[in-house]
Amino acid sequence: MPFTSNDSTASSAPVLDRQSLRPDCSNCFALCCTALGFSRTSDFAIDKPAGTPCKNLDTGFSCTIHDSLRPRGFRGCTVFDCFGAGQNVSQNLFQGASWKAEPATSKDMFQTFKIVRQLHEMLWYLAEAAGRTFDPDTSHQVNDLRRAIEKAMGGVQQTLSLDLGSTHERVRSILMSVSEEVRSAYLATGDDHLDSWLVPGADLMGKTMKSRSLCGADLRGAYLIAADMRGCNLSGADLLGADLRDARLEGADLSKSLYLTQAQLNAAHGDGCTRLPSELDIPAHWPSNS
Ligand code: SF4
Repeated sequence: MPFTSNDSTASSAPVLDRQSLRPDCSNCFALCCTALGFSRTSDFAIDKPAGTPCKNLDTGFSCTIHDSLRPRGFRGCTVFDCFGAGQNVSQNLFQGASWKAEPATSKDMFQTFKIVRQLHEMLWYLAEAAGRTFDPDTSHQVNDLRRAIEKAMGGVQQTLSLDLGSTHERVRSILMSVSEEVRSAYLATGDDHLDSWLVPGADLMGKTMKSRSLCGADLRGAYLIAADMRGCNLSGADLLGADLRDARLEGADLSKSLYLTQAQLNAAHGDGCTRLPSELDIPAHWPSNS
């Protein structure tokens, strides 16, 4: 089904705010532990085919090793974020009937989860874009798009037939536009000079940037694996899709960074002095102070 934002419900506010886009595992049929597959790597201790329950899942859809995932070799599980897709698919789209209770629905449920997760991730970014743009017209456009995406998830078959590619394109375009606007504001007011290598998709693996001002930097899709960003100011820095695995964020200020996710934080190292946006939590494995 082609994606269009013209059929959005004209004046209603988007329903899914950022709080609704946080995972609620207690209302999910462990869809991430079942629908998705993973291979044995440093992030997952076992191979698990997609569409099969993980061997660590109990009969009540809970993980039996939840409190020891990292030491048991399941770090990947601690950095995954479904953006609230799990509870939406389980409770709304499949009306509280699990894949275990209704095995015939499992294939559609798992596929729907994979699609809804992507749509919820887009909604997470769009919710931020709506609040960060200084232009009321742009804010309206963003909210139109949010409503259209919500409407596109109105039913299972409707969701399964959605043209994800065109949805991605619409979202990407408006996120970039808001990013440019926000970053320009930071760059225009600061005395800081950004190095020419701070560009989207840059390979900054292991790079030492300690205590630098990265305000307004476009780090979209950058490889920041194990980069040392301790004490950096990342206000207005676009971090969309940046790979922050093992990045050092102790004492860094990310409170006004753009398009940051919980999954990115969970993959990084920080401490009690790392400043975060109010919607995001300090990961459980971070020490409370340095
Ligand atoms: S180890 Fe636990 S959290 Fe990870 S997939 Fe298996 S059941 Fe889910």
